[in-house]
Amino acid sequence: MCGIVCYVGRKPAKPILLEGLKRLEYRGYDSAGLAVQDGETIHCERAVGKIVELERRVNGLEMKGTVGIAHTRWATHGRPSEENAHPQRDRDENVFVIHNGIIENYHVLKKKLEKDGIVFRSETDTEVLAHLIALHFDGDLSDAVRKTMAQVEGTFGIGVIHRQTPGQIVVARRGSPLIIGVSDDGHFVASDVSAMVRYTNKVVHLEENELATVTADGFSISTAQAKPVQRSTETVEWRAEDAELNGFPHFMLKEIYEQPAALENAIRGRLEQGEGVPKLGGIMPVWESLKQSRHMVLVACGTSYYAASVGKYIFERLTEIDTEVGLASEFRYRKLNFPPNTFVVAISQSGETADTLAAIKEAKRKGARLIGVVNVVGSSISRETEAGIYNHAGPEIGVASTKNFTSQLTILTLLALLLGRHQNLSLTEGIQAIRALEALPGLIHKALAQANHIEAVSEKYCRCTNWLFLGRKYNYPIALEGALKLKEVSYIHAEGYAAGEMKHGPIALINPEMPTVAIIPLDEMHEKMLSNIHEIKSRKGPVIAIATEGDEKVRDVADDIIEIPPTLDFLYPILTVIPCQLLAYYCAKFLNRDIDKPRNLAKSVTVE
Ligand code: GLU
Repeated sequence: MCGIVCYVGRKPAKPILLEGLKRLEYRGYDSAGLAVQDGETIHCERAVGKIVELERRVNGLEMKGTVGIAHTRWATHGRPSEENAHPQRDRDENVFVIHNGIIENYHVLKKKLEKDGIVFRSETDTEVLAHLIALHFDGDLSDAVRKTMAQVEGTFGIGVIHRQTPGQIVVARRGSPLIIGVSDDGHFVASDVSAMVRYTNKVVHLEENELATVTADGFSISTAQAKPVQRSTETVEWRAEDAELNGFPHFMLKEIYEQPAALENAIRGRLEQGEGVPKLGGIMPVWESLKQSRHMVLVACGTSYYAASVGKYIFERLTEIDTEVGLASEFRYRKLNFPPNTFVVAISQSGETADTLAAIKEAKRKGARLIGVVNVVGSSISRETEAGIYNHAGPEIGVASTKNFTSQLTILTLLALLLGRHQNLSLTEGIQAIRALEALPGLIHKALAQANHIEAVSEKYCRCTNWLFLGRKYNYPIALEGALKLKEVSYIHAEGYAAGEMKHGPIALINPEMPTVAIIPLDEMHEKMLSNIHEIKSRKGPVIAIATEGDEKVRDVADDIIEIPPTLDFLYPILTVIPCQLLAYYCAKFLNRDIDKPRNLAKSVTVE
């Protein structure tokens, strides 16, 4: 959600900042702004809407400075408007601040400042930061920021410039990520590496409650207590091309097609066929306790929660571990009572999902051990957990998660398989699973080959305003994910249901205008799913079946059939979800939706 990009160096800042903001667009935002310092003055421009609006505004302006801060805002306090967009500034326009997050005690601070005669120009919580920093400033910007940090509660990643400290940006974080990028032409600070990956892959992560003073030639990090911190640079593996469309009309489609490669990356170096045991170096720090564990909780939000929900069935199938799933936003409000040696697995693409972070902090307080499954290396969840497994799926730009979902399913399968092989799972089953995992990238290619047919099916049904998705067991969460995907990108109302629940209510909705997507691979649930399809057909509901190739029984009853190749029962979700993703994509396309940036949604949800 919302994004920060700052630059201080030897090149003009304006084009670098605009380019960085465009790379952050995928995170979701409602307005944007930037401020450039040219040694004498600070020029600030803001605009509601897309980055092109801001670009239009600054294009004609001369902004020569080589120091600047820029922001995409996703409003939390105050509507999206030019005055509420960032940078926010103090009364005398000395201090300019960009902020990701929420200042929870802003109300108290604002009242106090107003009593002292300060007039607020925006409705944001952020504006208090600008006034406080200005009041604390006596020549040392980092000191003023540090004093302000001590007064505020809540979460923030901030970038600050001051008219009297040209050539310098001060940044600070608490609960919202910030990364410093190092290049020959200067330094960057961003909330997300994709904003600077075109210029550098050398980065330094800022840790909780740290601040940094960044100049063209260097940076110095210190704690909130002013203790200097030494930290060396890391190299990120993402390339600039990863964040480009490469001929695809949308990132969502590109990422759907990247799934064979994402799966290969998830399993690369991790499969050992001879023993039927995967290798997962990232969890070795906790391995001795983990292999004894009999209780596991998979915690996540949104699409990752559905990956966790499939994961529960996979853990039950392959291991002896009692596995529970928890919606992160609810989890920490429960009375958590973990049996000894319980592991909580946090699953998040960005590794910054605020609800998931809060849930694992609470779980830790209650004695659970923590593992992370995240895609973004060095993200907050990867730091908060004791051990973990990276997806290595590459950047996911489309707001609706696709390749990361199948990658998460793969990682959870590897983890379950590893644990299962140290419990009761036989060598034969282990080898069989590994062979099937190795075959998956090829099978996904086959599933993708149905794209034209799926496009035609989507065209046929995209005007229907209500859809139902049904599945059982491993594919019940896929029904939920299929419905979510359709809602997210096409804005069609859809519900996912466990097919057995149909007769307990939703069957009342069935009519010729309401299509049902029935997920019915050839597994132990096949006959039961078939009966459910008959129930729908008896009520004249159209049925789109996602079925294993050559399944004649389904062919006889479904209106439309989308085929997937055969695999093991617990791996089917990795294939059955692909037609669901494509259905959502093509429906959205026919309905002219903003597919990569659906309304009201943000990619990385960093507020609770
Ligand atoms: N809370 C701030 C605002 O509403 C920042 C929101 C954001 O993270 O973009 O202005």
